[in-house]
Amino acid sequence: MRDDNCIFCKILNGEIPSIKLFEDDKTFAFMDINPANPGHALVIPKYHASNLLEIPAEWLMATTATAQKVAKAVQETLAPDGINLLQANGRGAAQSVLHFHIHVLPRRNEDGLEMNWGLIPGDMAEISSLAEKIQKALT
Ligand code: 5GP
Ligand code: ZN
Repeated sequence: MRDDNCIFCKILNGEIPSIKLFEDDKTFAFMDINPANPGHALVIPKYHASNLLEIPAEWLMATTATAQKVAKAVQETLAPDGINLLQANGRGAAQSVLHFHIHVLPRRNEDGLEMNWGLIPGDMAEISSLAEKIQKALT
């Protein structure tokens, strides 16, 4: 349930200090020490799972519910223009801490952060063919 080498498990164990926002029996929320914007927070399960593919559903649901709670508090406190929930899986997705976590990231209109993939129409044949393969994996 905990990994001795994991920085977020160390935060859960109190071995590394953190600025706590909230906790319940399954989850813990705290401030990110490298905020992309003011109010940037992290929500983690009290269970070491490295990513979305590994985390049991009950821990995922609890962590998601706490992320919503934190997002509502951030909205009330900071009145940002928007909030992104971000969640990275694997080095290729820029995950740097291998303990499942959800970023609660308040956004401002002119904050300069970008989701830069745009709206470029895809090839419908390729989209459909990939969908068929994924559907098979879902059954
Ligand atoms: P990732 O890149 O894995 O999606 O996000 C990891 C996040 O954890 C980063 O935003 C980083 O700033 C944050 N982080 C890394 N180490 C610590 C720490 O010791 N304390 C806190 N509060 N945040 C951390
Ligand atoms: Zn951990």
